[in-house]
Amino acid sequence: MDSRRKFLQKLALPALALPFLPLPSWANLQKPTLIPYQGPVLRVAIMGLGGYGTRVAEAMKDCKKAKLVGVISGTPAKIKTWQSKYGIPAKNCYNYENFDEVKNNPDIDAIYVITPNALHHNQVIRSAKAGKHVICEKPMAVNAKEGQEMVDACKKANVKLLVGYRMHFEPKTLEIIRMRKAGELGKITFFQGLVGFKVGDPNQWRLSKELAGGGSLMDIGIYAINGARYMVGEEPMWVTAQETKTDPAMFKKDVDETIQFQFGFPGGAVASCLSTYNMNNLDKFFLNGNDGFAEMQPSTNYGPIKARTHQGELSHPHVTHQTVQMDEMAEIILNGKQPIVPVDGEEGLKDLKIIDAIYEAVQTGNKVSLKLS
Ligand code: NDP
Repeated sequence: MDSRRKFLQKLALPALALPFLPLPSWANLQKPTLIPYQGPVLRVAIMGLGGYGTRVAEAMKDCKKAKLVGVISGTPAKIKTWQSKYGIPAKNCYNYENFDEVKNNPDIDAIYVITPNALHHNQVIRSAKAGKHVICEKPMAVNAKEGQEMVDACKKANVKLLVGYRMHFEPKTLEIIRMRKAGELGKITFFQGLVGFKVGDPNQWRLSKELAGGGSLMDIGIYAINGARYMVGEEPMWVTAQETKTDPAMFKKDVDETIQFQFGFPGGAVASCLSTYNMNNLDKFFLNGNDGFAEMQPSTNYGPIKARTHQGELSHPHVTHQTVQMDEMAEIILNGKQPIVPVDGEEGLKDLKIIDAIYEAVQTGNKVSLKLS
């Protein structure tokens, strides 16, 4: 009898204990559930059916709260393929000339802009004018002036503007942020962010100032900029920066190859970062505090992200970043949910102000002051 009671107690414990465990917000995101989701769904049209647009579309197949329902593309053949692959009706297909007509389409709630950086400004403002919420890929624009205009246009149109910061929903990233907020690392003293890769094809838009707005800093350096802010938990007050160019034929004027930059934070912490298009194996964050540290490598790729702290390895399960991102963004847009780390246009604008300041620091050699909060 006693052993039967013990057996039953063992069985009951997880079921009884679960409701009282403080489960982190990511824990439920990709768990299969017996009750099908019946709440509101964000109906999304993707603009720009390229490499990353395709990744987002595939990830959205597993979303509960967001659904791919439309496309905007300059390539008719891609539209056809996507229509059959994702079941998209012809009435939800647009090109770059006619997509303003989406304002008359009640079956699309939001447009996800996934085109080359320099096109975001115009495309986001047109989407907002069409009365649609906008998710825009990083960098939100190519400078802070454009970014401010996008924020203003979305405010004026009374639509939400979010930036595709997928790491803001990544479980290990969120755990380190939780630890830092809880004081488990003590006073934060230092952040290091190393990001980069060898860019390859010299003819791609990423190496054109007109389409990319710059070089590695715009594309990959932004992860270290944004990461420094959410890891340290403060806004930088100043920036210094230095550029090196070893291949001027590949990296033309105003297209940066490698930039090292440093930040100073109000609490006394400093950051040291490197952004490059000409070195491999760089995807590493290190956060140091007086009582502990956190290290991530890889820190921002599609994962699985690996992380350890002074307390040991983090074992949070891998999630498909874009699936979680889109479900969470649906909650933000439809239900006003507040994310742990902001993903709105103001957040994107802060990174653009820092990018402007880094380029200014490179050009002048000066320490450039920032006022972000
Ligand atoms: P791709 O070159 O793979 O795709 C871009 C797509 O934009 C093209 O396929 C095309 O689609 C459309 N497009 C419209 N005008 C142009 C033009 N003049 N030149 C080239 N393409 C054009 O780029 P990515 O998908 O890699 O990057 C797109 C955006 O996504 C960038 O802002 C980038 O920074 C961001 N990104 C974000 C990532 C993340 O992890 N958050 C990862 C990778 C990229 P169509 O033929 O349908 O018109």
